[in-house]
Parts: sequence; structure tokens; C-alpha cells
Amino acid sequence: MLVDLHTHSTASDGTDSPAGLVVAAVEAGLQALAITDHDTTAGWARAGEQAEMSGVLLVPGAEVSCRVRGVTVHLLSYLHDPDEPVLSQTLAASRDIRLSRARTMAELLGRDFPITWEDVLAQAAQGATVGRPHVADALVAAGVVADRDEAFAGLLADGSPYVVHHGAPHPVVAVQRVRAAGGVPVIAHALAAARGKVVGEEVLEEMVAAGLAGVEVDHRDHTEADRAWLRGFARSHDLVMTGSSDYHGTGKQNRLAENSTTPDHLHRLLAQGSGTRPFGELGALA
Ligand code: AMP
Ligand code: ZN
Ligand code: FE
Ligand code: FE
Repeated sequence: MLVDLHTHSTASDGTDSPAGLVVAAVEAGLQALAITDHDTTAGWARAGEQAEMSGVLLVPGAEVSCRVRGVTVHLLSYLHDPDEPVLSQTLAASRDIRLSRARTMAELLGRDFPITWEDVLAQAAQGATVGRPHVADALVAAGVVADRDEAFAGLLADGSPYVVHHGAPHPVVAVQRVRAAGGVPVIAHALAAARGKVVGEEVLEEMVAAGLAGVEVDHRDHTEADRAWLRGFARSHDLVMTGSSDYHGTGKQNRLAENSTTPDHLHRLLAQGSGTRPFGELGALA
């Protein structure tokens, strides 16, 4: 059985529609996937409908933006209640902050390159969580860079004078809010130093104490040593271990199912979620 628990759609910065994402997952041979758009659950209904038609299991989720002492942490939340007020307000606040921060980046870039805030907005679907990838797409459309990768390697890299970071909840607070909404919190790409600064073991320990359920082990931005360390950490704290693609569609190299989660860990994760039910079914292969 192939399971991919971290993917993005046009509800945030992926390029496949929520339904298209599920179709692509079926084509990639997946029996189960999670939709985990940044700070939104807007893709759940359409992806869920498609999962029911396609005969795959869709685990509804989100990737919650967090920050601690200047370090970005991404917390995957699975199966939380989308109407629980505290978590849904947390996600709504992040979307608002991301919008104003993207606007600032567009204005900074607009001093030196032919792009405007309207150009950036035109790259995001209505209501989507706006992020650097949309700014990148606007730079591509203006002919400033060839693709998202070139933008992220230069003008939009961490530390670039054009990049503004956004405020976000402390990861320990986010873990508590996900649990309080009946969700299952799993830290995404915790040791991916290639993406920027990562948190230390103390923060991970605090997150476990607050109710962290699992760690994403197999992710393309983790080295073999990162994965080995995370496996040991997961074993010593009895955490769920996941593997996933972090698929974003055409703007990023990551392919669906390039990393996957074993069925036993999927079942452990599903058993802990009480905020909402998955869509569709695993079928005979389960
Ligand atoms: P932001 O969260 O707005 O700071 O933007 C960073 C996000 O862009 C990360 O979550 C990445 O997954 C995503 N992303 C999408 N395409 C790319 C790319 N080509 N290179 C790096 N990051 C990317
Ligand atoms: Zn993303
Ligand atoms: Fe992430
Ligand atoms: Fe992601």
C-alpha cells in the first residue's frame, strides 16, 4: 500500500486543484493521501469528493506555520475539526499575515523589478493561502526568473533583502491547539537544514510534552543522518513516523509518492484523530 501524507493544492501554493491533486495521486499509485495546504482547510471538500469517487482514502489536514526565535517550524495537523474556533482563528490569522507580508515583498521587489502586488495576487487562486511561491510565479511571468526554483535560489531565498518573514504561533502552542481541535500533530521536515535554520532537540522535546503525535522522517530535504536521528527520536518517544513527498505540483521537483508512510503508521495516526473523519476508503488493499 502506498501512502503520502503531505501534499499541497491551489488552496495554498500547489499548482493542482484539490480534485486534480487526488486524481494525480491515483495516477501515482497511491491508496491514501493527505491534503495539507498551508494554513487552510479550503481544499478539503473538493478533494474529499474526488477521493470518494476515485476510491482512495483522503486524510484531511493542514500545514500550520509556526515560528520560534526566528526559526520557521511547519506542523502538520491531521483530522482536526475545521470549525473548532481557536485553531481555525489561528489559521485565519496566519493567512492574513501572509497576505500583508507578501504585499511587502511585492513592493520591495517592485522597486527593482517590473512586478506589482496585483501581479502576485493574480498568481494565487481566490482565497488561497498566499506565499513566496506566488511571488516567484509573478517573477516568472514578468520574465525576471525562469522558474520557482531560480527565484528561491536567489531573490526569494531566506536572507534575501526582498524576503520578509511572517509572525506565527509557537510550535508548542500550535501542538496544543491541534490536539484541542481533535487533530493529530506531526512535525514536518524537522531537520531539513537545506530549507533554513531548524529547531533544536529541546523544542522537539517540549512539543512531545505538549502532545506531538509524530515526526515526518522520510522527506527529500532530510539526509540519511537526519532520518536515522528522527527514527531514534520517534522510537524513544513512541511517536508515529511518516514519509511524504511535500508535493506542490509543477513548481517544485517533489513527485507524489516519492516517499511514503507504512500502513501501520497510517493506522496509528488515524486512530488518534477525533476532529473529523477521513474521506473515501482504503479499499481492499488495507
Ligand atoms: P513561504 O511559506 O511563503 O515562506 O514560502 C515557502 C514555501 O514555498 C515552502 O513551504 C515550500 O514548500 C514552498 N515552495 C514551493 N515551491 C518551491 C520551490 N521551487 N523552492 C522552494 N520552496 C518552494
Ligand atoms: Zn508550500
Ligand atoms: Fe513545509
Ligand atoms: Fe509542505
